[in-house]
Amino acid sequence: MDVISHGLWGGIALGRRSRKSFWLAFLFGVAPDLFSFGFVILGAVLAHGFEFLRGIGHPPDPAQIPAYVYHLYNVTHSLVVFALAFALVWLVRGRPLWEMGAWGLHVVVDIFTHTTAFFPTPFLWPLMSVQFNGRAWSDPVIFVPNVVLLVVLYAGFLWKHRGWPK
Ligand SMILES: [Zn+2]
Repeated sequence: MDVISHGLWGGIALGRRSRKSFWLAFLFGVAPDLFSFGFVILGAVLAHGFEFLRGIGHPPDPAQIPAYVYHLYNVTHSLVVFALAFALVWLVRGRPLWEMGAWGLHVVVDIFTHTTAFFPTPFLWPLMSVQFNGRAWSDPVIFVPNVVLLVVLYAGFLWKHRGWPK
């Protein structure tokens, strides 16, 4: 899924309690992509400005992507790593940080919205390299219902709270 949708899904699923909770869940929702692709995009912007935006919707050539991104992708898109981090935070705080669940949700959504041709989700890394051949999130069959669903859910959320929660 695209990074903004990930943030919005995380926020609506796990951050409905308050404004602070929402943004925390939003951040956990975007974090897996931010800490993998984010560096490449930042580098591209620094080197070539916003030229990369012209290629949006067309996945870049996987061979052009630096190796460290694949390593970071393994770490950030693994349910094993997520579960360990979630448990560690729970242990340290004495209670779970539910907003972190947006990270796990990101990985689960990615499993089904990436094909094996472009960054299949390494959700069992480093234990197993199982790959699922999903449907690309840029496919209108996925993307359009995703946007419609988000608009409906957010409209309902804002209506219920008579605006943005405090
Ligand atoms: Zn992702």
